[in-house]
Amino acid sequence: MNKDLVERLLPNLPHDTKYYEEKYPKRNLGKDAIVTRYAPSPTGFVHLGNLFQLSIARKMAKQTNGILYLRIEDTDQERLVANGISKIIKTVKQFGFTFDEGPINEEEEKGKYGPYIQSKRKEIYQTYAKELLLKNLAYPDFTTKEELEQIRKEQEKTKRRIGYYGKWARSRFLSEEEIAKNLDQNKPFIIRLKNQGDFNKKITIVDAIRGKLEFPEDDIDQVLIKNDGLPTYHFAHVIDDHLMHTTHVIRGDEWLSSLPIHVNLFKTLGFEVPTYAHFSPLNKKEGNTIRKLSKRKDPELAASFYHQMGIPNQAVMLYLATIANSNFEQWYQDHEDEDIDNFPMSFSKVGTSGTLFDMEKLQNISKNILSKITAEEMYNNTLNWAKEYDQEFYDVLKNNKDKAIKTFNIERNTEKKRKDYANYSEVKSKIYYMFDELFTDPTYDFQKITDHKEIKNILNTYINNYYDQNDSEEIWFNKMKEMCDKLGYASNMKEYKQNMEKYKGNIADVSTVIRVALTSESKTPNLYDIMQILGTKTIIKRFEQIK
Ligand code: GLU
Repeated sequence: MNKDLVERLLPNLPHDTKYYEEKYPKRNLGKDAIVTRYAPSPTGFVHLGNLFQLSIARKMAKQTNGILYLRIEDTDQERLVANGISKIIKTVKQFGFTFDEGPINEEEEKGKYGPYIQSKRKEIYQTYAKELLLKNLAYPDFTTKEELEQIRKEQEKTKRRIGYYGKWARSRFLSEEEIAKNLDQNKPFIIRLKNQGDFNKKITIVDAIRGKLEFPEDDIDQVLIKNDGLPTYHFAHVIDDHLMHTTHVIRGDEWLSSLPIHVNLFKTLGFEVPTYAHFSPLNKKEGNTIRKLSKRKDPELAASFYHQMGIPNQAVMLYLATIANSNFEQWYQDHEDEDIDNFPMSFSKVGTSGTLFDMEKLQNISKNILSKITAEEMYNNTLNWAKEYDQEFYDVLKNNKDKAIKTFNIERNTEKKRKDYANYSEVKSKIYYMFDELFTDPTYDFQKITDHKEIKNILNTYINNYYDQNDSEEIWFNKMKEMCDKLGYASNMKEYKQNMEKYKGNIADVSTVIRVALTSESKTPNLYDIMQILGTKTIIKRFEQIK
């Protein structure tokens, strides 16, 4: 197409493509270095699939001394959300993801390959579109919506493939005079690729995760530049990943169907095609059917859900690693105390059939992690969680630091650690009874022993004759047994089982009465430890509360 006409279509572009090729030179990295990116739209929403992608991307970049960068794909201006970029950065940071390059917030960015926000790269895309126009590999399309609809109907009627291609792509055949005339009339237009592809030919692509894939060549005259002057996702992806020297495009398999379009664009522009790695979706079992996790139906899809639940990031990362690579779990069993970053991740071990998301497994990983951290860490993390999500609990923890740490220490440094907590949001429900401020309105169920007089009798006998805060655990336990013998309960379970009729009940029933009176719970960690922490005054008060 002649230069003047191209100039009329895309005026005032200050540079040519050569300028950009030089401005963004090849990266100075090792030959196997992986350069990859996280490329979200700025909707502010981060989902588990994004974290999954990030955990693979970061690992692959790190383990090859490569680069992980952030690029914001905002060419669809309808999807903009206020502060979306900052929200994304903040959310992924909560999971430990930071970027070597990219936006830092809505205004600032770091790195030499920017701008990293697509709407700020309009001139760049237009420059490459201009070059395609000059080479007769693109053309302006003035077709109206109604005309497009007409074409579609015609294709349906004659049972042809739907789309703007070949002879159906009418604007392809406009003469330069016709184009000039349309421009004189100020007709709106878009710029399309003059596709050289042949739908009857096959292309082969080797996906790093899925292996060899075969597709028909793309022959649709794809839109490159929209009416608002911004590129389509396809065009921006290709230009950006070329100029930013992405070596690996790691993304969800919902993009597989666009792959022939992308490969074709890379080739038409004379760019090297990056390696693609398409991972499968995270699925959920619902009754007998398996479906993709959905934003609308499944709160657990949102990354923010895990933060709100107080599931430690480490647990989420560990879980994602187990689903990312099939050999991870074995590796982790052998290297439990090592940083999981030492695991050698590979694309070929990423599963290709959808992964079933298993919340229970994630909770178990979390329980394990929370059983291993120190009581101080448990305290600090719970405090941080409560600061954001539960002011009442936050105040109680803040005002009772020693007591809380002692509570978290119950059965923590023992050989067989208790796995009480699956997340920080359930801590309150498990330790509330340790704090008078939270022990309001208790309801009691004393289990086996139901007679009210007998309950009072056990509590009074215990506090008046057997309780001493200074007793060791052994003495405490012996005294409990003594009391049982005296009150007619078996202190020895074996003996009890052999001669049940001789006893009113057994030592477990009696300690349950004390446990429930103190905590209103029938199951708690070690009762002795709880009593030590509660102290005499509280114990007396709690017993008196049983009217
Ligand atoms: N902006 C695209 C998305 O949000 C990125 C896809 C890709 O990674 O190429 O899904």
